[in-house]
Amino acid sequence: MMIVMKPTASEDEIAHVVARVESVGARAHISKGEEVTVIGAIGDREHVARLELEGAPGVAQVVPILKPYKLSSSQLRAGERSVFEIGGRRIGGEHFALIAGPCTVESRQQLFDTARAVKDGGASMLRGGAYKPRTSPYAFQGLGEAGLRLLAEAKLETGLPIVTELMDVRDIEAVIEVADVVQIGARNMQNYTLLSEVGRTGVPVLLKRGLSATLEELLLAAEYVLKEGNEQVMLCERGIRTFETAYRYTLDLMAVPVLKQLSHLPVVVDPSHAAGRRDLVGPLSLAAAAAGADGIIVEVHPNPEEAICDGPQALRADEFAEYAALVERAAQIAGKALSSA
Ligand code: PEP
Ligand code: MN
Repeated sequence: MMIVMKPTASEDEIAHVVARVESVGARAHISKGEEVTVIGAIGDREHVARLELEGAPGVAQVVPILKPYKLSSSQLRAGERSVFEIGGRRIGGEHFALIAGPCTVESRQQLFDTARAVKDGGASMLRGGAYKPRTSPYAFQGLGEAGLRLLAEAKLETGLPIVTELMDVRDIEAVIEVADVVQIGARNMQNYTLLSEVGRTGVPVLLKRGLSATLEELLLAAEYVLKEGNEQVMLCERGIRTFETAYRYTLDLMAVPVLKQLSHLPVVVDPSHAAGRRDLVGPLSLAAAAAGADGIIVEVHPNPEEAICDGPQALRADEFAEYAALVERAAQIAGKALSSA
């Protein structure tokens, strides 16, 4: 249920509605827009239905939220886009974020060479995995805490906010000490306990779409984070499984405009994991940016031939600046400006 307050509603009237919502055991999520305040009453449907807030002081109207996902629904924000500020960079609305870096942190040299190149090329944030979800248990699993320490150093040197993956709730403290954005990987999109825990930290989340997840499942997964009071969730399309075998996954670019219709949350595209091939990363990035994506997360390596993980899809660090300039132009076509410090 959505309670739309009148533009003239006082703080007391808003507080009164919140108290009523909470009195039936529901949660009140307040979104203060430029003109009006909307209160989402999220909880047991029957209890919420009994609220009868029509005509209450300060209340303009009460409308049901028709979608199964409530807090991520565009209806809740009446068409207003969510914009997040992360370490001085903005994403969402007119702001486009280019997140770049290695698949995994391998060494100080590798991370710093990449971090400097992407910073100089205009990246908004630095990505890099310390905990890696590898298909084979015998493959390199990431440097763990040592990787996190290197990311912290790279952030200190470049000023770039850090995006890094959390796979296991036992590592949450260590990860959020370093991460400006916690990435939840495709394989963990439906790890609901992990999502709720990350929600409780309040740290911004990049939630990647599961390999075979529908958009509704993705939005319901986002809901697990949002319901804990963490509003800063970015949705990430990273390719899905289809019958096509000519490339690694199929990048579902239709998800960009459709997710933006369904939800107010920023939409990021990962062309690297979708393609699995460097030569496709450029064209897919341009298409994603021109289609209105709010950001791109892309893998970059100083020497892809020697990368421990995902080398064939990594852009070369010395070619990043040229790539970034093209992506910036595509984002401009969609009316967005690249957000860098
Ligand atoms: C990654 O971004 O490093 C990654 C493993 O991505 P995904 O979860 O989309 O496969
Ligand atoms: Mn990777």
